[in-house]
Amino acid sequence: MESTSVTTAFVPFNVAVIGCGIGGLAAAIALRRHGHVVTVYERSHFASEVGASLTIAANGTKYLDQWGIDIIGARAIIVKKLIMRNWTDGTIRDVYDFNDYKTKWGSNYYMFHRIDLHEQMQLTAKTLGVNIVLDHKAVNINSVEGIVTFDNGTSTRADLIIGADGVRSCVREQIGIMPQTKPCTSTCYRCVIPTSRVKQLNLKNFANDHAIQFWGGFGINKIVVTVCSDSEIVAFYCFYPAEHNDRTEEGWNFSATSSMLRAPFPDLDPNLLAIFEHVEDIKLWKLVVHDPYPYWVKDRVALLGDAAHPMLPDQSQGSCMAIEDAAALALIFSPEHWGKNVHTMEHGLQLYEQLRKSRATRIQEASARARENLNERIGWSTKRNTDKSENIKTAKLTIDEINAYDMEAHVNTLIK
Ligand SMILES: Cc1cc2nc3c(=O)[nH]c(=O)nc-3n(C[C@H](O)[C@H](O)[C@H](O)COP(=O)(O)OP(=O)(O)OC[C@H]3O[C@@H](n4cnc5c(N)ncnc54)[C@H](O)[C@@H]3O)c2cc1C
Repeated sequence: MESTSVTTAFVPFNVAVIGCGIGGLAAAIALRRHGHVVTVYERSHFASEVGASLTIAANGTKYLDQWGIDIIGARAIIVKKLIMRNWTDGTIRDVYDFNDYKTKWGSNYYMFHRIDLHEQMQLTAKTLGVNIVLDHKAVNINSVEGIVTFDNGTSTRADLIIGADGVRSCVREQIGIMPQTKPCTSTCYRCVIPTSRVKQLNLKNFANDHAIQFWGGFGINKIVVTVCSDSEIVAFYCFYPAEHNDRTEEGWNFSATSSMLRAPFPDLDPNLLAIFEHVEDIKLWKLVVHDPYPYWVKDRVALLGDAAHPMLPDQSQGSCMAIEDAAALALIFSPEHWGKNVHTMEHGLQLYEQLRKSRATRIQEASARARENLNERIGWSTKRNTDKSENIKTAKLTIDEINAYDMEAHVNTLIK
């Protein structure tokens, strides 16, 4: 399909998605559902997948539901509340109850293990006829011709190339974007423990609360606890001052030990410190702050997910934004719009950038603000809005802004 041609009838594209993370799979599923022919190219063969928990709010689960992802198969836990606890003893400071969440927002707020969700998304993609090609690392992109070259010497040509290759994106570099970054004041350890082990050791069992639980969060130190995989796994995110380690390279998978994990938190709730002696899969996650990129699209290429807008994890919106990106691309290149309101690839991709960049940038910025102020985090930003002592900015991100967003209406505004 010519990028400048004016097309009157819907014609499926040949799409190459680079990267088979949550974002790449979301794009593949969403576009395939509209009849596009999609191949996903992944550099790895998933032998060492990231074993972290992911929380997906209604703005993301709305699409997982629409796309038919097997949520039960993904062993999701519905988030029932947010719990804020005291740093030193874990006593409860505040609770935000989500009893009416689905009634209000149409979809649930879920906690997943990333691997469980990833597996179910792969299954859905394959069932729809998406071709997933492993061990293909993209190394060169010709954005005008739509050619991707891989490190094994093979290449492919596509009408549309989607760069869903994560925070250290090769596709992004190939379309001429050099990230402007600054080190984050914080670093994060993440780890998990099986609930069965917690019970066996007679430790405090946080899996009973189907909640996202926070210790600290006012200042750099913060512990976030979630539960996933049918309540079989408790997961921990532990933020601490970056000067405790000397890593400079961005990444989320550097191995760490239990003593490294406990060292920055001498005065933390003893219930957590006791669990930290027995946790598994401890990884250091080196956080880096990326300025918003100048553009996301070029010729036949669009960036999506962390490749387009890496963000700090403090709003838990990274996957949700990748899922929204995917839904946006599929909507723009759907029979509803293509050939009617959108006539060229160039127009479609410009529309995609226009639609997505302002919202994702706003959430990137709100994630950075929430890094050291838990009252900025979606949910608490609404519940604790009257807490004058915390000096909440008027521009804080609200749960309504996230969950009530109407993408279809937004597209229609931009088209008219
Ligand atoms: C520890 C952790 C916890 C998080 N928690 C949450 C949360 O609670 N809620 C939330 O919404 N988000 C969360 N996020 C963010 C979220 O995981 C990401 O924003 C989201 O999954 C989108 O990722 P992605 O698909 O764009 O990139 P990635 O998940 O990084 O996937 C990129 C894929 O591309 C592949 N790849 C890279 N380079 C190439 C190449 N050159 N050629 C081919 N393939 C390539 C990689 O191997 C990888 O499979 C978390 C992130 C981390 C690290």
